[in-house]
Amino acid sequence: MQPVILLVEDDMVLRSALKELFAREGWLVQEAASAREAQERLDETVHAVVLDVGLPDGDGVELCKAWRAAGEKRPVLFLTARDEELDVVRALDGGGNDYVTKPFRMQELLSRIRVLLRGSADIRGIRRGDFSVDEEKMQILKGASPLPLTLTEYKIVRTLMERRGIVPRETLLARLWDDGSRYIDDNTLSVHMSRLREKVGAEHIQTIRGVGYQWSDI
Ligand code: CA
Repeated sequence: MQPVILLVEDDMVLRSALKELFAREGWLVQEAASAREAQERLDETVHAVVLDVGLPDGDGVELCKAWRAAGEKRPVLFLTARDEELDVVRALDGGGNDYVTKPFRMQELLSRIRVLLRGSADIRGIRRGDFSVDEEKMQILKGASPLPLTLTEYKIVRTLMERRGIVPRETLLARLWDDGSRYIDDNTLSVHMSRLREKVGAEHIQTIRGVGYQWSDI
């Protein structure tokens, strides 16, 4: 699933640089140059907000406070100017999850946003039919009950649920291998898949002969 970032920054040069940077991370960007636009563009597709504190028509911290008061739970990272450094406490009191002070290193900003996106998985995580992924606990839930899966099985199901299409066997094997699991060969994968069908329900895992597997919501 592709994360969507609402980027609120009135400095056009900085905004387009960040937009490009975020796009390279594979994130979709909604842009806003004012508090008013931010308010308009915070729709349900957004996963996290990068919010400049000094906006032409208002104060980012006040905006965030208003969102929190209205029950908004999605993560907010403030961009503060150096001379606003004393305001960091105020920013975090205002309901921000994190902040960076301008000028900041792009890599630092990216890694902080990644942390926020990981945290937001339980708010708007992967969901397919009755099934959802709890990334923090590394569990697959059917309704509210966690399925009794091994770690490898969890990784397989998570990968299948994440993709809206066929997942080739090679992709699954590579994913399991990348995660530092012990090497899993083609036969072992087949054994995992048949055990998974018993645990998850055979109707949810389709075999695409000669290619791979596909999750089915049914
Ligand atoms: Ca500004």
